[in-house]
Amino acid sequence: MDVLRPGSTGPVVAEVQAVLRSLALLDGEPVAAPEYDQATELAVRHFQQVRGLSVDGRVGDETYRALNEARWSLGDRLLRYDPEHPARGDDVRRLQELLLELGYDAGRADGILGAETESGLRSFQRDYGLTADGTCGPATLRALKQLGRRVTGGRPQLLRQSASMVESGSHLIGRVIVIDPGHGGGDTGYTAGETTEADLVFDLASRIEGRLAAAGATVYLTRGRTGDPVVGDRTAFANETRADLFLSLHMEAHGSAHARGVASYYYGTGSGASSTVGEEFANLVRREVIARTGMLDCGSHPKTWDILRMTRMPAVRIDCGYLSHPVDRLLLLDARTRSTVAQAVVAAVQRLFLPADADPATGTFLLPPRLSSPTA
Ligand SMILES: [Zn+2]
Repeated sequence: MDVLRPGSTGPVVAEVQAVLRSLALLDGEPVAAPEYDQATELAVRHFQQVRGLSVDGRVGDETYRALNEARWSLGDRLLRYDPEHPARGDDVRRLQELLLELGYDAGRADGILGAETESGLRSFQRDYGLTADGTCGPATLRALKQLGRRVTGGRPQLLRQSASMVESGSHLIGRVIVIDPGHGGGDTGYTAGETTEADLVFDLASRIEGRLAAAGATVYLTRGRTGDPVVGDRTAFANETRADLFLSLHMEAHGSAHARGVASYYYGTGSGASSTVGEEFANLVRREVIARTGMLDCGSHPKTWDILRMTRMPAVRIDCGYLSHPVDRLLLLDARTRSTVAQAVVAAVQRLFLPADADPATGTFLLPPRLSSPTA
């Protein structure tokens, strides 16, 4: 779709404004020739902020989809599993949250009705004497709403992810880790002179791949040196490998030459529905990189970006420095820094999978010699 921005007109603008009104983010009545005015931009910014989207006041694909999903509240429509066109929306998210609160494994509360959610729904229906048809209609809704109130707190959907992490042991042998170098092909990302973000993150991904493989992990990259798969292909690939962990690599740039530093992102809306393991890894990897490179700490933040949301495993994106900042750029163009960043990532992965009592201080963890050689 064409990105909607201040000045845009047409039926899609009317549609966007209608959703914003239904969410009480925009005042006023529909008009015959709607325009994307300042009030609309403000409302879109507000929406993006509470949804954990990038806040730019414009409506591109991701914001448009999020707006569409926000229109649905539980009970508005029949929810049924369709593998070809899975239902998406806030009603699906609410259904998942209710099932998870009741102790049913409905997958992650990501607002997408997939096979896990259907199987959780069927189990619930079976246990409560309803027709186990995997369709969320009026009878199932009534039962869910009556029961849902009794259980509060505990954020069981978060505990579920933590528990499966503990079960899978403490070393990297048998771990599957997917590294996603951002951009590629015709999409170069930001540029620093002759060098592109796409090339730099691919180089970084290769260094991480080598070190993780040496530590016993199975590592896949989402693209080769020249490919540029769309986000959906990257996440589908990660899901097919049944990876334990997903890390997307980017570098930033900004119009202001002062912007610099390292930020990391994990799946979450900022209102509780986040992934604890993702959040933990986002913190670990950012801190290790900061401690070893001396770059500025820009924090870890919850986001609902598709790259984080569509991946079924703990997923993190790191924006490793600003190519527009003179010092960050010099550091990133230096292969030694990229090697240090790769070491930092591997240390963070090790710390994530190590038992808590064996966790060494940030910036100090080195692989034992036996594991650091690929021939061991
Ligand atoms: Zn990028």
